[in-house]
Amino acid sequence: MSLTEIVAIEGYIQTTYLAVYPHKLLLLDGGCRCDVEKILTYITDTLKRPVSELKTVMVTHMHPDHAGGAALLKQETGCQIVTASTSKPWYKGVKGRANHINDLALTFYVASRQGKSITNIWYDPILKPDIEVVDGNKVPHFEDWTVLETPGHTDRDLSLWHEPSKQVYTADLILKIRKKFISPYLITLPYSYRDSLKRVKALEPDTILLAHGEKASICAEDFDILIEKTPDKPRHMTLVQGLHMTFPQLQFARKRVGTP
Ligand SMILES: [Zn+2]
Repeated sequence: MSLTEIVAIEGYIQTTYLAVYPHKLLLLDGGCRCDVEKILTYITDTLKRPVSELKTVMVTHMHPDHAGGAALLKQETGCQIVTASTSKPWYKGVKGRANHINDLALTFYVASRQGKSITNIWYDPILKPDIEVVDGNKVPHFEDWTVLETPGHTDRDLSLWHEPSKQVYTADLILKIRKKFISPYLITLPYSYRDSLKRVKALEPDTILLAHGEKASICAEDFDILIEKTPDKPRHMTLVQGLHMTFPQLQFARKRVGTP
């Protein structure tokens, strides 16, 4: 069963991609909690498929616009949640819970700048995956997708490489604003981030699936510029910092995509 298409579903503040096969579906990140209904409606109304065809939801990292819908999607469809194998939760302990609240608040802030209203985006900060994967594994049920560990934005970011079509989903590794590729503001591990860029560059992808944007072509020079500009020190992002930044600086801006 070969890949039919990859559709972009416009979420609360991000684009979530659905890989469509004749009798199964793969979601590249879980979106925000509030996106679940839209994703399920797309499956039933546009694709005319039962939601049980959603077999796997990949979670590339724990931010609200990537992990937020995963648990609810599993509850509604019976899909498996697949994420990176790590030694400890991203939002661990009291500090982790505070960071989770901060990230939810940042999501609301970005949404409000996009003219969206406040809605329920709460999700459990501790993900309960069905399967944990490591670099080089195939995506469960979707052997044509390879898991790449591309940390840097957080300590556990995954990218997903579809070699047959030369397409790669890189989550928040790379953003695009005003026709220019840029790094996310949050870079937790700068040296890992640089290595992750080199790793994806070496794949020579034809198309990059941007979580904050749409499908785009990217060339070696684009990667080189990002690698060159990667800071040497970590960059963190609190809501207080976010409130002092202009919207383009937030680097979460996204173009509207034409698909639902
Ligand atoms: Zn992120």
